[in-house]
Amino acid sequence: MRILVIAQEKDGAFRKSSREAVTVSKKLGAQTDVFIAGTGAAAKEASAYGADTIYLFKTSEYDAEMQSRLIAAKVNEGGYKAVFFAHDWYGRDISARVAALLDTVVLSDATQISVDGDRVAITRPVYSGKAKVQLKSKGPVAVVSLRSNSFTIEESTGKGEIVEIFGDGMEPKAKIVEFTPVVTKRVSLADADRVVTGGRGIKEAANYKLIEDLADILGAAAGATRAVVDAGWADHALQVGQTGQTVAPNLYMAIGVSGAIQHLAGMSSSKIIVAVNKDPEAPIFGVATYGIVGDLFEVIPPLSEELKKMLG
Ligand SMILES: Cc1cc2nc3c(=O)[nH]c(=O)nc-3n(C[C@H](O)[C@H](O)[C@H](O)COP(=O)(O)OP(=O)(O)OC[C@H]3O[C@@H](n4cnc5c(N)ncnc54)[C@H](O)[C@@H]3O)c2cc1C
Repeated sequence: MRILVIAQEKDGAFRKSSREAVTVSKKLGAQTDVFIAGTGAAAKEASAYGADTIYLFKTSEYDAEMQSRLIAAKVNEGGYKAVFFAHDWYGRDISARVAALLDTVVLSDATQISVDGDRVAITRPVYSGKAKVQLKSKGPVAVVSLRSNSFTIEESTGKGEIVEIFGDGMEPKAKIVEFTPVVTKRVSLADADRVVTGGRGIKEAANYKLIEDLADILGAAAGATRAVVDAGWADHALQVGQTGQTVAPNLYMAIGVSGAIQHLAGMSSSKIIVAVNKDPEAPIFGVATYGIVGDLFEVIPPLSEELKKMLG
């Protein structure tokens, strides 16, 4: 079986979600090739996880139409049986376009994956994590997106042959006129191994600093509930949940978060969940590994202080 992994680079490195996707493909026993768009700085790294051919599309622009057409053409040419994406903003945008070009659907947000002959089967959480559904591809090609942090990364060996590919000359129907990156020294939610999220219990915008400080001590990403984002206390890019980002880090700390079903949808597959809430009946305690019933303004400052001493 041949699988094409659509990878991404970040700051010149091969993104963690891409390493996960290549590892999954290798573990399924597939011949694994990679498509990557960008500067090319991360392309060679793909071979350390087992990629054979790495199709490199050098570009400084994000042109979703062009990339989708190039990927679909490669899939058809190469006889790939599956295309793997990360289930992040890039994967969601491009996978849907590629699936449309290949006349199929996206098996999205997989947390488990298997193959049976040429057919790919995935499991994904549904109803905000209350149940799981299994889906099996029926068409000749399965387009799949994988939930970040759901698969372990392993190194492997691949040929690592880089083949540069070029645009097809077609004019895009939409063009990006401006791109303004958010500059932050903090790890992004998509890549984070640890996340500290603040909820409405923080009471006001200035107190979000308690969340940021704890996140910095832990080397974590800072997250927010929709209540916090709607109040303007944190940027929408930090929202975790059904209408925000889905995360599955090793450690998720929910501070002053009630645990509404729409929030749980985005974080309940985290490995260890720590909740701090003054209401012992808060639903977040239903999914928490460790819970602290208490006032966050009394709990978080000394906790941060102790962690700072421990972790330097
Ligand atoms: C279609 C739809 C989509 C949605 N998508 C999302 C989404 O993506 N993400 C999301 O988060 N929400 C989403 N929501 C909103 C969701 O329903 C909740 O309203 C929201 O998650 C509540 O945020 P919260 O937990 O911060 O606030 P609240 O529910 O108000 O909870 C605040 C918590 O803080 C505790 N608290 C208060 N003071 C303290 C203190 N001093 N110390 C400790 N604890 C304290 C309280 O006991 C309470 O449990 C969505 C809703 C809809 C309808």
